[in-house]
This record gives sequence, C-alpha cells and structure tokens, in this order.
Amino acid sequence: MPEEIYPNLYRLEIPLPESPLKYLNSYVIKGGARNLIIDTGLNRDVCKTAMLEGLKALDIDLNTVDIFITHLHADHFGLVSELATQNTKIYFNRPEKEIIEHWKGFEPMIAYGAKNGFPEEILRAALHQHPGFKYGSKWTPVLNILNDNDTLDAGDFRFTCIQTPGHTQGHMCLYEPEGRFLIAGDHILLDITPNIQCWWEDGDPLGDYINSLDKVYFLNVDQVLPGHRRLFENYTERIDELKHHHEHRLDEILNILDKKSPSTAFETASKMTWDIEADSWDKFPVAQKWFATGEAVSHLRYLERRGKIRRASEDPVITFELV
Ligand SMILES: [Zn+2]
Repeated sequence: MPEEIYPNLYRLEIPLPESPLKYLNSYVIKGGARNLIIDTGLNRDVCKTAMLEGLKALDIDLNTVDIFITHLHADHFGLVSELATQNTKIYFNRPEKEIIEHWKGFEPMIAYGAKNGFPEEILRAALHQHPGFKYGSKWTPVLNILNDNDTLDAGDFRFTCIQTPGHTQGHMCLYEPEGRFLIAGDHILLDITPNIQCWWEDGDPLGDYINSLDKVYFLNVDQVLPGHRRLFENYTERIDELKHHHEHRLDEILNILDKKSPSTAFETASKMTWDIEADSWDKFPVAQKWFATGEAVSHLRYLERRGKIRRASEDPVITFELV
C-alpha cells in the first residue's frame, strides 16, 4: 500500500525477491493532470503487480504518468517498458542513454571478468543469474534527457537534477531545495552500501563516487528518500560513513596485496570481508561473487590511478602488486 511521505508524494514498496536489496522504493508524485513515477522495478510479474496495485490505490491511470529513472540498473529501469504508454514522457540521463544505445550484450563484461580472474565456467552461470539479463526492459522507449542542474517540475515539487556518477556512470538524484529532501536512487543508502563496480578498462568509478558524495554533501537535506531500504535523516553522517567504508576497503586491499602479491581482482575479492550470509567465499552465491569482483576491480583501479599499486601482469589475466 502507498505510504505518504509528503503531501502528494508517496512511496511504493516494489518487492525484489531473491535479492539482498529486498525491495525497491518507487516514489509517486500526484500532480493533477500529470503524475510522476520515480524508478520502476524489475521487468517481472511480482514487481508489475505491486506497481499497478499501488497506482490503483492512488487512483492514478497509467495514461497520466511520466517516469523519471535514476539509473540504468534493471531494478530501477526494467519495468519501464511495461508501464510506458504513448503518452508517457520518460526522463533519463545522457551517459546511460548512450550506454543503452551502444549496448553490445554481456559479452564484453564476461571477457573483462575473465581478464580479472573470474573462472569462465562460473562466469556463464553468473550471467544467467544477473538481474539485468533476466529482468531487463525488453525494449527501449524514447528517453528525454535531463542534464546536471536541470529543473524537473512534478506537482507541487520543483526538483533540481544532480548527476552523481559512481554507482553507475550517469546516476542522477533529484533534490527538492524547498522541501529539503533528496531522492537519492542508489547514491546514498542506509544499512547497505551502494555497490561500486567496474567492468570496463578505462574509468575510475570509485573516484567518481567519492567526488559525487562530496558534491551533494552541502545540500540542505532533512530527509533522504533512497532507492532501497529505509528513509533516513542523518544525511551528512551517512555520507561520512560511506566515505570511511571505502577508505577501510582500500586499506584492506593494500593489506591483502602486501601478503600475497601479485593478485587478480577475483583473488582479492575472495579475501575481502563481505557482509553476506555465507560461511565462506566458496559458498557465496555466484551473483554475489560477480558483484564482489566488480567492487574489487573499482577499488584496485582507484589505487592504481593514485600510484599505490601497479600491474604485475596484463595477459592472460590482470594482476596487481604493491608499488
Ligand atoms: Zn538499485
């Protein structure tokens, strides 16, 4: 059932079965002639049912809905093709529109995983578990681009778009200065830390992420409306915690490389501490190994760019060692 957060702004809980995220927070703004949905859910029946029931309870017809999507991950974007009608305006960011338009399937990601030591046989299995593979949008609707600092009006609210690359390359938050709240997508979460992965050779997603945390630090935010889990108020405190979390991770990796060098990202990930309900790395679900390895790559890349570690080998796998 919809939960009213502010007058005419509601939270719908869209279940994400089998995911440690548990559910997506979809926000719905009632605005009279046009209504706005922020983030949609996976392209699967359980999400669609929850969304349609929520809209029905709010007395909203799909023909009157526009959609804003914080980033391209399937739990936010996947259901859009099931919700969009001919009248729907869909708002999205430019970097990820380009990723979607130039999408060559999962093969480059698989090849890059293998390059980082992820064993080929479990890699294929991991792909078939990947939510983007199973529950992605089946077609791409027309996307209206919003850029950093653009304004988006919805009902009584006037949002400033704030681009926050890191979790994904074009991730975008919506800031409501008058209401002093931030619709944060997966940029800032409570209880869990946003996954910062790297599956391509150039780029520094962890560096981008930390810059994006600094970018939003001084906004006047009394309440955060995140993409998953609970809403929260201790905004700057949480940003500080997230930054410390990554500093701690970087130290942990330097220690791992100190003891056994050189090491692939996959080997590094297997020795890092993860907040997952499994006794050992071997018992991790394959999808979690995949996310963990992507996270290890982003941290290794960060350290490499800053001259703390270097590549010991490039072929057939990339290994790193301390400088
Ligand atoms: Zn998400």
